[in-house]
Amino acid sequence: MSSPDSASLNSDRRDQPPPTIELRDVRVVHRLRSGSIFRPDTISAVDGVSVSVRRGEVLGVVGESGSGKSTLARVMTGLQPVTEGLVLYDGEGFAGGRTARRELGRKVSVVFQDPSTALNPRLPVRETLVDPLRVHGIGSDASRLSRVRELLHLVGLPQSALEVMPRQLSGGQRQRVAIARALALEPEIIIADEPTSALDVSVRAQVLNLLTDLKQELGLGLVFISHDMSTVRFISDSIIVMHRGKVVEHDTTDRIFAGAQDEYTRALLAAAPSLL
Ligand code: ADP
Ligand code: MG
Repeated sequence: MSSPDSASLNSDRRDQPPPTIELRDVRVVHRLRSGSIFRPDTISAVDGVSVSVRRGEVLGVVGESGSGKSTLARVMTGLQPVTEGLVLYDGEGFAGGRTARRELGRKVSVVFQDPSTALNPRLPVRETLVDPLRVHGIGSDASRLSRVRELLHLVGLPQSALEVMPRQLSGGQRQRVAIARALALEPEIIIADEPTSALDVSVRAQVLNLLTDLKQELGLGLVFISHDMSTVRFISDSIIVMHRGKVVEHDTTDRIFAGAQDEYTRALLAAAPSLL
C-alpha cells in the first residue's frame, strides 16, 4: 500500500469530533459455495481496510469488479458483519441487531446501482417517500406529506410525480426517487454504490450533478462508489483505490491525478476514459 499522505490527510483533525463512520483494519471473509479441497472456500472481500468519512466530505471508492467495493459499502451501512476489525459511528462501536441498524438508518443511508429493483414497483412515489418517515414515527400525516413535497423539489422532480408508479418513470427519474428516499431522514452520510452505472449515458451527468448539489446544499457526506475513475474524479474530495479487497491508494483527488504512487492506480488512470 502506498499512502504517504494518510498522516497528513488526518493531521489537522485532532480537534474535530470523531468521524461519522470510521473503519479500523476491517476484514470481511466471505464463504464460497464452490469451495473444494483444491480451492480455498473463502475469500477476503475486504482485507484490512481503514478509512473514515465525515459530513460534507465526498469519499470516492474505485476499483474493478470484484475488488470489494460493495462489501465495503455494506459494512459502512451496518448490513455486513465484519470478520475482524472495528466499525465506529461517531466514535462509538456498533452493537448490530435490528434496533441499532434502524437507528443507524437515520444517520447513514444508501442508494443502490439499479433503481428499478431498489424501488417497490407496487408503491406510488408518494408512499415510497412517506415510508421511512412513518417507520421512524416522524411527524403527522400532514407534515410527512409536506416533507415528501420538499424531497421531490430537492431532487428536481415535479410535484406531479407524487402519484406516479415507478414503471412510469425513466431510469434517471427513478434514481432521483431513490435519492429522495435516501434523504428522507436527513442522514449525515449517503453511501451510493455505483448509482449511475445502470443509467443511460445521457442522464449519468445529471444524477452526478444532483449529488454534488445536494452535498453543497445539505452539507451531506457521500461515499461514491464506481468502477470508473473519471466518474469518481468528478465528484470526490478524496479517493481510495481498491484492489483485491485492499486499499492500494488513498489520497486527495488532486494528488492522485497529479501523480498516483501505486502501480495499479496508474494502470486504472491510463485505461481509456469512459463517458461518465
Ligand atoms: P465489487 O462491488 O467491487 O464488485 P464485491 O464486494 O461485490 O466487489 O465482491 C468482492 C468479492 O467478494 C468478489 O470476489 C465476490 O465474488 C465476493 N462476494 C461478494 N459478496 C459475497 C457473498 N455474499 N458471498 C460470497 N462471496 C461474495
Ligand atoms: Mg459492487
